[in-house]
Amino acid sequence: MNLYIDFGGTNFKYSFDNEEIIVLESAKVDLVTFLEEQISLKKGIKNIAISFAGQVRDGVILNAPNIDLKELYIKRFIEDKYEINVIVENDLNAATIYEYSKFQDINSMIVLYIGTGFGCGIVIGDKVLYGKDNFAGEIGHIPFRKTNHLCQCGRDDCLELSTSGKALRGLRLNEIDAQTKQIFLDGLVHSFFTVLNLLNCEVYVLGGSVISNNIWLLDFLQEEYKKSSFYKLRGELKMVLSDSQYGNLEGLKIIASQQQTKDKTNGKI
Ligand SMILES: [Zn+2]
Repeated sequence: MNLYIDFGGTNFKYSFDNEEIIVLESAKVDLVTFLEEQISLKKGIKNIAISFAGQVRDGVILNAPNIDLKELYIKRFIEDKYEINVIVENDLNAATIYEYSKFQDINSMIVLYIGTGFGCGIVIGDKVLYGKDNFAGEIGHIPFRKTNHLCQCGRDDCLELSTSGKALRGLRLNEIDAQTKQIFLDGLVHSFFTVLNLLNCEVYVLGGSVISNNIWLLDFLQEEYKKSSFYKLRGELKMVLSDSQYGNLEGLKIIASQQQTKDKTNGKI
């Protein structure tokens, strides 16, 4: 049995194998207590795969700006204590693996997810781009515009302070004041053209709760793209909405099954 967890800035979602997905409030979950309870309640957990809204490297949570965490070495902690394999992945990388799995015959993709924060996943040459520290795609913390708020990364001008669910304070774009809406859209256009012009990928996927609550943003970005001088040269851009609000969990399932296949091939199972 596998346990899949998506630990987001607002919601904590989990499921066992392909069972029903249960949603809790992230602020009310202590991860270690939750895991130890589940391990004792459900006998036979073999793998735990967790996606985090934050920076992760080698199973260690380096920084999770929107999540209060006590145990950062979660993989080592659980694996040392129980005979359970633990996978820890950045949430956008997990989502990107899921989004990319739906397409054949392409080898590059950009995934922009706007939920509590703002993240970007990148596929180049048929591979997810992780970067040296597994930080590639941290678009939300690119300096954009000074605000009166401090990002938990330490800056007051991060893109996600202007363009994210946090910036909208839980409201839809058409419910928020005109100035906040305009700043949000400016940040979205800025980030969209940044990834488009830097990476020139084949497919652009928009996802996350803010996008699914404001699906007109897809048409908005297409219109912005058509205003760009590159439109004449590049032609139409393939841009789609994510079809799942559980992309992170779906990506974890793919990662876990790939790892099991690899372990079988290497004779570990
Ligand atoms: Zn930041």
